[in-house]
Amino acid sequence: MKHDRPLKFSYEFFPPRSPRMERRLWRTMGQLERLRPEFYSMTYGALGSAQQVSVDTALAMHRESPVALAAHLTGAGADAAAVLAVARQLQAAGVRRIVALRGDAPAGEDAMPRAFPSAVELVAALRRIGDFDISVAAYPEPHPDSRGRRHDLEHLRRKIDAGAARAITQYFFEPDCFLRLRDAAARAGIAAPIVPGILPVHDLDRVCEFSRRCGATVPARFGPLFAQAGDDPAARYRLAVELAVTLCERLRDEGVAQIHFYTLNQSDLCLDISLALGANHAAQPVDSAA
Ligand code: FAD
Repeated sequence: MKHDRPLKFSYEFFPPRSPRMERRLWRTMGQLERLRPEFYSMTYGALGSAQQVSVDTALAMHRESPVALAAHLTGAGADAAAVLAVARQLQAAGVRRIVALRGDAPAGEDAMPRAFPSAVELVAALRRIGDFDISVAAYPEPHPDSRGRRHDLEHLRRKIDAGAARAITQYFFEPDCFLRLRDAAARAGIAAPIVPGILPVHDLDRVCEFSRRCGATVPARFGPLFAQAGDDPAARYRLAVELAVTLCERLRDEGVAQIHFYTLNQSDLCLDISLALGANHAAQPVDSAA
């Protein structure tokens, strides 16, 4: 199918845990920069020291990269004052975009502080302190805490009504998962855009392991397909590109205008997938081309 407007892309990164990972992160961002993404996002760790690395890295990305930065922020595991202090720090540095999440209690801690029992309360609190552009999470397949699809839709509506501008989804592999959510949200009167989150299958075993934890379904057909690619890294890579491109093309045919990639801090797959989907690779780095 022919499309009039090019797809928009955004890319998510996680905080580096070593100097080597930090170098890889900056290299990755540099490579993706030429695609002129809508924004980069930096996830927020579940524990104290990881949270500090997230904030420091987000602030460095905001200062050093020409690409707009969305900082993730979670409410779980901290009191309201601490969470809002981070929001004010980001605000003071000029970061306007926040991905507001409930988050999860760190492993081994059952009790979650009640200041932000869900992302709804965090979005509302952020709205009270500044004019943030807020994104929230949405789940094409039920979140492990889901009390049912109708309930989840109502919860998503409450996050949007509290002041979020859009939702970004958990990753999924079958287009119908996303389309069901998008269509149900539209029927429920949720007008905010829902941006699909796409995870390229860099390593099938690892993807299966994440997916068990977050409730995403890995299609049964992936096993035989990757088995057929065998131990040949190039064949596995081509397969990962093909699966993601096929998924994104179907989404585009269904009217999706923007894709959010979970990069796992690796550029190659996301770069090749974005290029196959028509992203324009600027001849010069973004800042010098401006
Ligand atoms: P919520 O939207 O508040 O709730 C999630 C689920 O629980 C929904 O099914 C909802 O219906 C149900 N629920 C919860 N509370 C209620 C309630 N009071 N009433 C009714 N239903 C309720 N985690 C991190 O730690 N750091 C990150 O940076 C991060 N980034 C993410 C980015 C995206 C795009 C996504 C999709 C997830 C991300 N996560 C991150 C994971 C997220 O923190 C977890 O999935 C967490 O368990 C839920 O957070 P949430 O904001 O979706 O919660």
